[in-house]
Amino acid sequence: MYASRPLTLMNTYGRQMEEFQPLEPGRVTMYTCGPTVYSYAHIGNFRAYIFADILRRTLEYNGFEITQVRNITDVGHLTNDTLSTGVDKMEAAARSQNASPWDIARHITEVFLDDAAKLNIEAPEHMPRATEYIGPMIDLIEVLVSRGYAYAAGGDVYFDVSKFPKYGALSGNTIEDLIGGHRVEVGEGKKSPADFSVWRSAGPDKIMRWDSPWGMGVPGWHLECSAMAIDLLGPEIDIHTGGEDHIFPHHEDEIAQSEAATGRRFSRFWLHNGWLQIGDSEKMSKSLGNIFTLSDLADRGIHPLSFRYFTLQAHYRTPLNFSWDALAAAQTGLYRLWEGAAELCQMATSEQPTDDATKFQAGFHEAINRDLDTSVALSVLHSVVGSKLSAGEKLTLIGDFERVLALDLIPMAKTLSQTSGAERTLLRERETARAIRDFARSDVLRDQLRASGVEVKDTPGGQRTIRKDVLPSFRNDDGEDEPG
Ligand code: AMP
Ligand code: ZN
Repeated sequence: MYASRPLTLMNTYGRQMEEFQPLEPGRVTMYTCGPTVYSYAHIGNFRAYIFADILRRTLEYNGFEITQVRNITDVGHLTNDTLSTGVDKMEAAARSQNASPWDIARHITEVFLDDAAKLNIEAPEHMPRATEYIGPMIDLIEVLVSRGYAYAAGGDVYFDVSKFPKYGALSGNTIEDLIGGHRVEVGEGKKSPADFSVWRSAGPDKIMRWDSPWGMGVPGWHLECSAMAIDLLGPEIDIHTGGEDHIFPHHEDEIAQSEAATGRRFSRFWLHNGWLQIGDSEKMSKSLGNIFTLSDLADRGIHPLSFRYFTLQAHYRTPLNFSWDALAAAQTGLYRLWEGAAELCQMATSEQPTDDATKFQAGFHEAINRDLDTSVALSVLHSVVGSKLSAGEKLTLIGDFERVLALDLIPMAKTLSQTSGAERTLLRERETARAIRDFARSDVLRDQLRASGVEVKDTPGGQRTIRKDVLPSFRNDDGEDEPG
């Protein structure tokens, strides 16, 4: 058992570093805003989910038991969620593809979960689909209306921000700023431009719509998360996560609705990740048409975990610039770790250590507990591999760090160490050739092994092997690296 250490996190609410303690000792409730399943999640989106995964794993590393919700938004997310206007993203995708929104949602969700698994993102305990929670959503709106926080207007229902004095506390926006920055859409029944919709009427031309006390319609995206969070985790949760763009309006609105309805503090910690950028300053986003998916990366020979490693090199709150060169460099770094771990697996584990394992473990734990400083945590990992610890101790530490980093270091070390019966025969022959100093024969055998996919390295402890044929190689397709 390792020493317990304080865990400090940057709370967007208040914008300061705070020591984390859950409401209930030992147990953490966490809500992560999930994907809108109208089109494939891109690697920018996955930066957000890798960050939430690192947070979750860090909490687990610190001994907490986690209940995490990461929803699937399959209705209600509008093309302009700041103004509460535009069209439903699911509905628009269905129309443009002449397909059912339900089929699109099912397919995109499947691919999302597949990609998340490839990135070693642990499955949350709950993954509710918004369309399964329409009942609790309507109940929540009814509470808001009955308490005077929301009002109906022509089949729509709006949240009245003037009734919630804390509105703006998360984002730093004032109602005056918001009114100044908003246009009132023609035909809207809002009392104030700053009010946002919690229910929108939907006519017979809409594919997805439900009956409600205000007529046929769909819930607002912000309201969906409030309803699912309260239903699955209760009125007060410990941590809520999302990308920076969620601070306003999405999370501000979640706070307003949830707290107005329950009278309790909705989430004690709010954590937000920075952008994956492209071209040094532009956010990777579907609407800008500059996205790459995990499958685009695979087409260029980038392993999914190289992307995970790439994101961990930066702090989750800082912008991270995507480029193929940077990704290829990350892949080289990860492969070096995998190969180093493979070599450790093939070494005798009984040597005497001449370095202090606890020093490395403390360094790692302190780094991740300092607002998830994964870049320092990775450098501790590299130091362990290059240290004077025994192979056994190194592997123990790597296994320990893997609980948070999840880079497949141990399974890949085993995969890279595998040899076939025929290859082992060649290795034994080569050992004999070297023993009798027949280096010409030894070189021939090395070439034969290489042709079979195995690279041999001679060390004072004997031959070490690395299977090279299981790892994808980055293809530098010049001229083809435009966003797709
Ligand atoms: P969405 O499916 O649009 O709701 O986005 C899913 C998650 O990805 C949200 O937490 C967004 O804030 C996050 N996100 C979107 N684009 C990026 C990006 N370029 N970099 C980091 N996170 C992003
Ligand atoms: Zn949300």
